[in-house]
Amino acid sequence: MVGDVQNLIDGRLVPTRSGEWLEKIRPANETALCRVARSGAEDVSDAVAAARVAQSAWADRTAVSRGDTVRDVALLLRERREEASAIVAEETGKPLDAARGETDAAVEMGLFVAGEGRRSYGRTTTASMPYRTVLTLRQPLGVAALIMSFNTPLPNVAWKAFPAIFCGNAAVVKPSEHAPASASFFAELALEAGVPSGVLNVVHGLGGEVGAALVDHPDVDLVSFTGSASTGREINEAAARRLAKTCLELGGKNALVVCDDADLDRAVEWVLASAFSNAGQRCASASRIVVLDPVYEDLRQRLVEAVVGLESQPVISRESMERILGAVEQARDSGATVLAGGTRLDRPGWHVAPTIVEGADPGAEISQLELFGPVTVLYRVADLDDAIEVVNDSPYGLTAAIHTASVHRAMRFAERVQAGVVVVNAGTHGSEPHMGFGGVKNSGTGWREAGVEALDVYSDLKVVNLVVDPSKI
Ligand code: NAD
Repeated sequence: MVGDVQNLIDGRLVPTRSGEWLEKIRPANETALCRVARSGAEDVSDAVAAARVAQSAWADRTAVSRGDTVRDVALLLRERREEASAIVAEETGKPLDAARGETDAAVEMGLFVAGEGRRSYGRTTTASMPYRTVLTLRQPLGVAALIMSFNTPLPNVAWKAFPAIFCGNAAVVKPSEHAPASASFFAELALEAGVPSGVLNVVHGLGGEVGAALVDHPDVDLVSFTGSASTGREINEAAARRLAKTCLELGGKNALVVCDDADLDRAVEWVLASAFSNAGQRCASASRIVVLDPVYEDLRQRLVEAVVGLESQPVISRESMERILGAVEQARDSGATVLAGGTRLDRPGWHVAPTIVEGADPGAEISQLELFGPVTVLYRVADLDDAIEVVNDSPYGLTAAIHTASVHRAMRFAERVQAGVVVVNAGTHGSEPHMGFGGVKNSGTGWREAGVEALDVYSDLKVVNLVVDPSKI
């Protein structure tokens, strides 16, 4: 089903200049899935040049017309849902049903963005001088580099590509080397649905090679990146050297707080879903569970019992599995207790057993580092103020959740917690196409993806100051 994954440049599938390939392995059984183009700086230059040429005619179309094309892509993706989801499931190892949900989420993003063709509101405002009016025009930036993670490959590309091209940019996508086929499927589908050649290009390969070349390319106007904070820092430094606009959506060490007035049945369900779905490979996964003392023992007991029945999903690579298991081992060596998991499951594929740790210091490595795997740590606290202190004791600030029956506690938490998204009585993950998503501190650079906020990433608001009656001034 998945053949060799090539670059897509100027509407054509092309080999790399070097002719080199990477091998993509299936996480579910460690067998070879496909070869992937291993691109370099020359391939990047070809893609950026194609994007630059295609961009102006694309930008000349009306926003309504670009929105219509985005809608056509979304509808074609909906039509090809089974094919798309099967590719996602195969290259990530996630269950087909989860992949279908992600395909649907990618479609929804397209439909939301398409509607902006008939909105894209700007501002008109007053001028201090008479006979003038002031208004804004939304303008494309030019060529956008879209670099992304593997975890939910179709939404990852959809969240960036749809608003980027809708705003009148041309784009060069650099998918994760761990999930190349889904992104290529998306881009080929976009071409089929009517996105002009050169408007959406894809270059595959390793981050340090093709990704870095893209970030450094002088003709790239915007770098939009989703991935780890360490890569984000490198990209930000490189892009800053040439003062390129950057939007970084980075990691999280998200906390879910369970208060003593919470519905514990629901809290258990949401902890499990937030910590372990997608094998914990979510920027918004709950890797810290902060529990008020009166219900700590009860919740711990329930979690340890419930985790046994969970369906397991492999993590994306052997390196990832070894890194996650190593971190749990290190926590154990430092005095923490592993209540569940902490081992590789005895079955084909890179399965890490859902892992629950307790007794780790909030300042310990396992409490501070993002593991991006099915590992969560329990903390016992005296009251809500202590809980908020533990939650905020993190370099990250992406999402946070609280389980409580008290509107006062919920609101106090929402006001004080350092996070871009706060959820009351549900999970730490879950986003909507029409709501901005992003974090504070090391979780990003302050931009929001999705929502109308995404338009601010991919366009520039030009202020027009217009004299309406020159004869009067
Ligand atoms: P990663 O940083 O290793 O890689 C992300 C992408 O960057 C890949 O395509 C990779 O090839 C590329 N890359 C690596 N080095 C590069 C370089 N020097 N220059 C340019 N590109 C480079 O991250 P990952 O392991 O793929 O993804 C996991 C991370 O992504 C986690 O931290 C997770 O929280 C984060 N994430 C964040 C969000 C969000 O919306 N905030 C969403 C999903 C994932």
